[in-house]
Amino acid sequence: MPLWKSASSEDPDVYASARAVEGLAKCKIPETGMTPEEAYNLVRDELYLDGNARQNLATFCTTWVEDEVHKLMADCIDKNMIDKDEYPQTAEIEARCVHIIAQLWNSPEAEETIGCSTTGSSEAAMLGGLALKWAWRERRKKESKTVDKPNIVCGPVQVCWHKFAKYFDVELRQVPLSEGALHMQPEQLREYVDENTICVVPTLGVTFTGVYEPVKDICAELDKIQAETGLDVPVHVDAASGGFVAPFLHPELLWDFRLDRIKSINASGHKFGLAPLGVGWIIWRDKRELPTDLVFNVDYLGGNMPTFALNFSRPGGQIVIQYYNFMRLGWLGYREIQNACAENAQYLAGKLGEMPELEILYDGKGALPCVCYRLKNPDKAHYTLYDLSERVRMSGWQIASYPLPEKMEDTVVQRIMVRHGVSHDAVEQLYLDIKKALNYLDKNNIKWSDAGPSFSHG
Ligand SMILES: *Cc1c(COP(=O)(O)O)cnc(C)c1O
Repeated sequence: MPLWKSASSEDPDVYASARAVEGLAKCKIPETGMTPEEAYNLVRDELYLDGNARQNLATFCTTWVEDEVHKLMADCIDKNMIDKDEYPQTAEIEARCVHIIAQLWNSPEAEETIGCSTTGSSEAAMLGGLALKWAWRERRKKESKTVDKPNIVCGPVQVCWHKFAKYFDVELRQVPLSEGALHMQPEQLREYVDENTICVVPTLGVTFTGVYEPVKDICAELDKIQAETGLDVPVHVDAASGGFVAPFLHPELLWDFRLDRIKSINASGHKFGLAPLGVGWIIWRDKRELPTDLVFNVDYLGGNMPTFALNFSRPGGQIVIQYYNFMRLGWLGYREIQNACAENAQYLAGKLGEMPELEILYDGKGALPCVCYRLKNPDKAHYTLYDLSERVRMSGWQIASYPLPEKMEDTVVQRIMVRHGVSHDAVEQLYLDIKKALNYLDKNNIKWSDAGPSFSHG
């Protein structure tokens, strides 16, 4: 008996098989296939070169879930959420989530209002923007006014709003930042809103820094503008991350449907909603805010179900897990998880703040569980934050470094997201690695490093 099987044997070891020796096809579907075991191992091995998602502190998205979530996802692998007639209970679960989230965001008609799941906040932003564009156009047509120059007004928004503006032919008016003002300032609004403004979009949890934009003050300023000029500008809140943080950690903060001006809100289920990748939510304050013209009706249990979506087929598992999370964790469970993240973020901010090289811009208090900082003396340092990102990557950590938007583009910042599954000890280890890396960069003159921005706002 040979001690090992040769590549030509009937049942070769996966790594002694012909494919393991020849390599996988790269540009053409191979003539013949292979066993599932071979394919599984060889394809999985390709993924070793991806970063370790748990150490990716650039992303806002879920990277840790319970075993039961894996099981439930597997149970749902064949469910298409768009087939309301075939999978009525998945449709029912989606509807329950809509009403639960509407209630979480204080919709005055939470049990009746309309909303839906999406692939993420980006699709939700498209739907929210479209609804407001339609409503604006209807209003203008009734007054026999022009409808060819719609605009939206926002602060430092995520790229999805740039996409919305481009894809749907809307002008994006981004209020510029200034030193000491890392988000939209309400008093800036008057310069930017006019009769063609379909909505103002504040962000609850700015992707660049983690801070909340002052939604209440923005609404109050728009009230003032209306009293003075008659302009009635609606608000859509992009609460991609904050929508599942503020209700638990900052319940007193007024940012949601308690403010009349807010017509719709989006959030990412797969960020602090704690669902696996692939689900977002948009909710309208009440049914009247979604123009019926945009809604398509699909057959559902012999009746009709209204749908509003860019996609058609989409997996149902993420929606089912969103509901699982609500049931499994309850309000208190969410609060404990988000609070643990916030504590770990604040601890990290404290440690990084003690370092002479760094200046904290956001310390994890009052908004998202994350830390944002810049070099204290970037002109004197012979390295950049991009170099620091590269150094800590050697221990597996992925940290986003990028310039701030308009008017602050000379400021390069770094942001560390602390999510479900990032423990105190992980944060401590990261801190020690950052310290070691800064020490190394101080001692070694890396002047011409070609490290550049890593731009992850999702
Ligand atoms: C992440 C994010 C988005 C995009 O969300 P996806 O769910 O990744 O599509 C939009 N806006 C903000 C503020 C975000 O943080």
